Amino acid sequence: MSLERVFTVDLNFFDFPGAIACYLVRLSDRAVLIDPGPATTIPTLQKVLADRNLTPSDVSDVFITHIHLDHAGAVGWLAEQGAMIHVHPKGAAHLVNPEKLIQSASRIYGDLMDTLWGEFKPVSEERIHIPADNELIPINGHQFQVLDTPGHSDHHFAILFEGILFSGDIGGIRVGNFDHIELPTPPPEFNPLKWRESLKRLKELDLRAIAPTHFGIYTDVQYHLDHLFSQLERLEEWLEKQMVRQPTVEELNEALGQWLDQQGRNQLPQQYQPYFTYLNPTWMSAAGIYRYWRKVRQA
Ligand SMILES: [Zn+2]
Repeated sequence: MSLERVFTVDLNFFDFPGAIACYLVRLSDRAVLIDPGPATTIPTLQKVLADRNLTPSDVSDVFITHIHLDHAGAVGWLAEQGAMIHVHPKGAAHLVNPEKLIQSASRIYGDLMDTLWGEFKPVSEERIHIPADNELIPINGHQFQVLDTPGHSDHHFAILFEGILFSGDIGGIRVGNFDHIELPTPPPEFNPLKWRESLKRLKELDLRAIAPTHFGIYTDVQYHLDHLFSQLERLEEWLEKQMVRQPTVEELNEALGQWLDQQGRNQLPQQYQPYFTYLNPTWMSAAGIYRYWRKVRQA
């Protein structure tokens, strides 16, 4: 199994082990990274590369599942070291000119922006490759394939390498090897209808493992995808009921927190509770759901 070429790099985000992964695929003297993580964890990434006798300039290619800062913040730095960055057509312009991306993230994170995510460096145009959906990208005699998978965001790719699916956020958040899986539903592009179509696509693949960025390589693919499907269904049912009452976004936030606890969040060991404050903050998911309802459902 080609898992032996694939390493889970724990970026140990703010001393939370097992929260944000970068996947390293070793192809002889070269390395390919999938979701290199935020800029704040570049020193960790550098150390892991050094431990494997790799320099940053040995990273020939970087795939990002999408441009959210916890997945893609380090791309500008990696491009400076010479890496080619493979990015969704709808995300590419934001890497070249990150002002809008930084602005909208700053609106969300406020004063915590720099502390959490660090400096997002732009990527020069010649270091960007924009694959088409389904495109096979040959690297050092191996093939990587990108799959357009909207639902969490409109600019989302899942990356397929030898039966392992690097699912970014479309494959949900699953930490600590537990069964609990959550769907991160942030504004402005969360869309459960698109998410369902993306999951249907993933179910048709012959997968050996699924590797969400948050966190780890899971071989119970059938369970994982089925659970995501039913979680999505439950979320939609819950939402239909909630919106009848025409809640404010604050009320929806409160209800969502209770609902997520019922779905098993509060069954996780205490040490994992703060993970969701960073990886799937309830207020952010509530804002995404609320926006979807107002802008898509009611439009
Ligand atoms: Zn995301």
